[in-house]
Amino acid sequence: MKLTVRVWRQPGPASEGRLVAYTVEGLSPDMSFLELLDVLNEDLVERGEQPVAFDHDCREGICGACGVVINGRAHGPEQTTTCQLHLRAFADGDVIDVEPWRARGFPVIRDLVVDRSAFDRIIQAGGYITAPTGAAPEAHATPVEKPTADTAFDNATCIGCGACVAACPNGSAMLFTSAKVAHLNSLPQGQPERAQRVLDMVDTMDAEGFGGCTNTGECVASCPKGIPLTSIVNLNREFLHATSHQRGRGR
Ligand code: SF4
Repeated sequence: MKLTVRVWRQPGPASEGRLVAYTVEGLSPDMSFLELLDVLNEDLVERGEQPVAFDHDCREGICGACGVVINGRAHGPEQTTTCQLHLRAFADGDVIDVEPWRARGFPVIRDLVVDRSAFDRIIQAGGYITAPTGAAPEAHATPVEKPTADTAFDNATCIGCGACVAACPNGSAMLFTSAKVAHLNSLPQGQPERAQRVLDMVDTMDAEGFGGCTNTGECVASCPKGIPLTSIVNLNREFLHATSHQRGRGR
């Protein structure tokens, strides 16, 4: 296969960026999209040019490190991670635009790499309990009903890739935050700080510059893990409950 990729090149956070076209030959339809970038980078290094910077790690669709906008869609034409997108999704000779996530909360560091540490700070705001817990308790000591365990687990599958933010016209991080809140607030261990957790996580999400949700649903259409829109409904419910709880305590 032969493909032309027009890749966003930006030397640094404060530099201007532009799309640069490269033709890459000798590709297999079974290669992943990241392998296309690997081949491109080998060519660039051989020519003495700077390779394209991009994030990647497990290349198995579970770490959430990779993610670029391909032809205007977060993670490209299929609802999967960029590493699990294969070149057979394109036709021989195609011209493909490759850009970084575009969102105020995800500033570009270089080329296709963006700073996603805002997600870490949202997690940090509520992703643990402050009470000393000691060693891990015996699993059967705290029974969890199957529907509750399923809700927590389904939401825990969020890999923090950021595609939901990149796909949203508002740059909203509501799907990510709602997945983390549903994961942590569903389980018995999450109950003591349930209200404070949702307030802190939503406050941090707003402070990091992410927009609000207006129910366009683009996030769900791009999420490689199938986090549903009902998680955002749950987040809104948790937030309202936490706010009234706070008012009830005169805060
Ligand atoms: Fe990625 Fe989906 Fe989690 Fe958003 S909700 S960060 S798209 S896995």
